[in-house]
Amino acid sequence: MVDTIVVGLGLAGIAMCEELRAQSEFFVVFNDGSQTASKTAGGLMNPVILKRFNLAWKANEHLPFAKEFYEHLQRYLGVDFFSDLTLLRKFATIEEQNRWFQAADKPKLAPYLWPGVHANKNVNVTAPLGFGEVLQACHVHTGVMLQHYERDLRVKGQLRESTFEYDALVLEKDHVVYQGLKAKRIIFTDGFGLKKNPLFNYLPLEGSKGEYLIIRCEDLQETSVIKSSLFLIPMGNDLYKVGANYNRWDKTNVPTLEAKALLEAQLRRMINCSYTIIDHVAGVRPTVQDRRPLVGQHPDHPQVGLLNGLGSHGITIGPWAAKQLYAAMTGTRYLPPEIDIERYRDRRKN
Ligand SMILES: Cc1cc2nc3c(=O)[nH]c(=O)nc-3n(C[C@H](O)[C@H](O)[C@H](O)COP(=O)(O)OP(=O)(O)OC[C@H]3O[C@@H](n4cnc5c(N)ncnc54)[C@H](O)[C@@H]3O)c2cc1C
Repeated sequence: MVDTIVVGLGLAGIAMCEELRAQSEFFVVFNDGSQTASKTAGGLMNPVILKRFNLAWKANEHLPFAKEFYEHLQRYLGVDFFSDLTLLRKFATIEEQNRWFQAADKPKLAPYLWPGVHANKNVNVTAPLGFGEVLQACHVHTGVMLQHYERDLRVKGQLRESTFEYDALVLEKDHVVYQGLKAKRIIFTDGFGLKKNPLFNYLPLEGSKGEYLIIRCEDLQETSVIKSSLFLIPMGNDLYKVGANYNRWDKTNVPTLEAKALLEAQLRRMINCSYTIIDHVAGVRPTVQDRRPLVGQHPDHPQVGLLNGLGSHGITIGPWAAKQLYAAMTGTRYLPPEIDIERYRDRRKN
């Protein structure tokens, strides 16, 4: 018998596993790689919504928590995947510059917005009105983290690299059984895979596909992340991630020619040197109607938990949300109502 079965090993799965490990629980993870949001992610931990210059939801609480989480995890795994970064927001108009100054004046935003304009010093970047700088932003190289986390679980015999067949789950009164494996509880961290999960697919997970181009650009020589209509993220060795778009209609992980054309058109407005596309990746963000995570216990089966709906901010929100879920499932604390799936109880009856 194990304490917990975890289904899915993206950002939510890792956050959940780390909380279980911190509580000295023995867990086994099922993961099949069918969803790619965490692998595809830009990896930015950014406290500010850069379209409207608003503070991200509970950023003051989530950001320090997440920073400590990733610092601790990279020490545990013995690999570097977490770093500070310089994040610049390109100004498109003078009016935008003014809005930036107004936002930087607000006490809530002041710790995160540098109250000035950086002139553009890179001749290969087009930014005549300069940039605002976001303070306290960080970067998680999600691909490296996932790869090393998987390897660690594999070595310890805690990873089953197979599809979890939802129909094969047997729910007993105070435990669950899956293909002969008995556990006190099961926690689903299946991302957009939730759509196939009969226990939770009543929840309003919408999904928003995003695509990135990976380009090589020797002349660019840029070290800051630049946000214009898209992000330009330096990855080292003259490689940059360029994206991502938002598509609410296509729910596949397949890169498209339409997105490639869109991203390239936007990129050409940002830089004026030649580049080569070396990769193109896509994933579906697990977004929710009310933009809040989907966390909690199944209404009829309290031994079944869910950590999902991390939307576009899984890096910052995931570790905090995992802690809330574990506390709720072990009866030590109630969930904050705004993340509790209880808010969607009525949808089950429909
Ligand atoms: C293009 C793009 C850019 C993004 N950029 C950022 C960013 O810069 N910063 C940020 O904070 N967030 C970003 N996000 C959002 C972030 O990636 C998500 O919030 C996060 O990855 C969600 O993690 P998850 O673990 O819930 O889902 P996923 O990463 O989708 O993981 C779910 C896992 O469950 C597995 N799974 C599903 N069903 C089954 C099953 N039946 N059996 C076994 N395994 C199963 C899948 O294979 C997958 O490994 C971005 C997302 C995208 C798509």
